[in-house]
Amino acid sequence: MNRTQSQQIFARAKELIPGGVNSPARAFGAVGGEPIVFDRATGPYLFDVDGNRYLDYIGSWGPMILGHQHPAVLAAVREAIERAFSFGAPTPGENQLAELIVEAVPSIEMVRLVSSGTEATMSALRLARGFTGRDRIVKFAGNYHGHVDSLLVAAGSSAATLGVPNSPGVTAGTAQDTIVCRYNDPTDLERTFAAEGSQIAAVIFEPVVGNMGCVVPTPEFLAALRNLTRQHGALLICDEVMTGFRVAYGGAQSLLGIEPDLTTLGKIIGGGMPVGAYGGRREIMQHILPAGKVFQAGTLSGNPVATAAGIATLRELRDRPPYARLEELSARLELGLVQSAREAGIACTTTRVGSMLTLFFSATRPTDWTTASQSDTSRYARYFWAMLDRGIYLPCSQYEALFVSAAHTPELIDETIAAAKESFAKLS
Ligand SMILES: *Cc1c(COP(=O)(O)O)cnc(C)c1O
Repeated sequence: MNRTQSQQIFARAKELIPGGVNSPARAFGAVGGEPIVFDRATGPYLFDVDGNRYLDYIGSWGPMILGHQHPAVLAAVREAIERAFSFGAPTPGENQLAELIVEAVPSIEMVRLVSSGTEATMSALRLARGFTGRDRIVKFAGNYHGHVDSLLVAAGSSAATLGVPNSPGVTAGTAQDTIVCRYNDPTDLERTFAAEGSQIAAVIFEPVVGNMGCVVPTPEFLAALRNLTRQHGALLICDEVMTGFRVAYGGAQSLLGIEPDLTTLGKIIGGGMPVGAYGGRREIMQHILPAGKVFQAGTLSGNPVATAAGIATLRELRDRPPYARLEELSARLELGLVQSAREAGIACTTTRVGSMLTLFFSATRPTDWTTASQSDTSRYARYFWAMLDRGIYLPCSQYEALFVSAAHTPELIDETIAAAKESFAKLS
C-alpha cells in the first residue's frame, strides 16, 4: 500500500503536535511505525489520505457502533447544524438525550451531560466525595477511566495499598487518595475495605474491561463490589464509557445485573461527537450545582449538534436493536480467529462480550492486569501490520478491544478471517 501522503502529513504533525497526535492511544507506539492519516469514512470502511480503504474494527475507539455516516445520524446532525452551533443555554435536545439514557439504564434517575468520558469520571468522583464527605477512591489495575489526575495512579510496590503517580505531573498527594486493587480479586477488595472502609468515597471500575484488552468480570467479583461498598457506605461507580450501549442497550449493568450508585457514559452516547455523561440516583445527583453544592460546569456541555448525533444514535439502537446481529457477527469472528490461529500453531486465547473482542497472544485467558500483561505484544505488533497490509484496521495495541459495528456483514467477517489466516502464517 502506498502511504506517501500519510507519511508527509504525519512528519509535519510531529513538528506541530507533541508526538504528532492529539491522543497517545492512536500513535502506534505499541506496534511501531507511524499512524495512518485519514480522510473519510463510510459504513464499515475508512479511507486514508492516499485513497487506501480499510475495514474498521476500532470505530473511533467505540462510538461508531452503527458504522460511519449512518444516514439517520447524518441527517440529524445536518438538521441541528442549520439551526445553531451552540447556545450555552437549555435546548430540547438535552432533555431528549437525558430521557433516552434514563430509560435505557435502570440505575440512572438523573443525568448530567459533559463533553468527554474523562470529564464524566472526574465529575463522578468529585460528586462521590462531596456526597460521602470522604476522600479515598478505589480503582483497579489495568482499568482506564480517562486522564483524571487521581486515576492516573499505579499500585505501590509494597504491600501497602496507597497508590503512586503513573504520570509526571500527578502529585504524590493526589495519588495517596487512590487505592489500586486487583481486578477480579474479591479478597484484595475485602482487605482494602477492612483496613480503610470508613475513608473510601467510591470504587470505580470497568464492568467489562476494554482497556487491558477485553477482560470479563467474575460474578464473585461483581458481588463483592456491590456488597462491600454498600456495607461501608461507599458509592459504586460503574464506568460504562465504553460498554454503555455497546454490550447491550442498557450497558454492561443490564447484561450482568450490576446495580451501581453512579454510572459514567461517553463514546456511543455522542455517536462520534464529543459527549459524556454521569448519572445515578436522584438523591445523589441532586448534590450537583446548582441543585446542590458540588461544582461542575461546561461551556459546551449539552451542545446541540453533539446531542443531535447522540439522540439519533440511541434512537436507532433502541428502535432497530443490532445487538443480536452483533453477537452473531462477533461470535463468527471470534471462532474464525481462534481456529485459524490454532491451525497455524499459534498460542492464543480470545475474550469477548458482545461486539467487544480481544485476541490475546497468550495461552491463558487474562482475568486481570498481571495475566493480561503476559501476552506476546511483539507478536501482536506483527499481526497488526500484516492485517493492516490486507486492509484490516485493528486496534494498534494488544491491550485495546476491537469493536464490530452494525455495518459489518458475515461476508466482511469472513474476509477478515481469511486475512487473519494469511497473517498468522507469517507469524509462526
Ligand atoms: C474511553 C474511556 C474513558 C475516557 O473517555 P474520553 O472520552 O477518552 O475522555 C473513560 N473510561 C472508559 C472505560 C473508557 O473506555
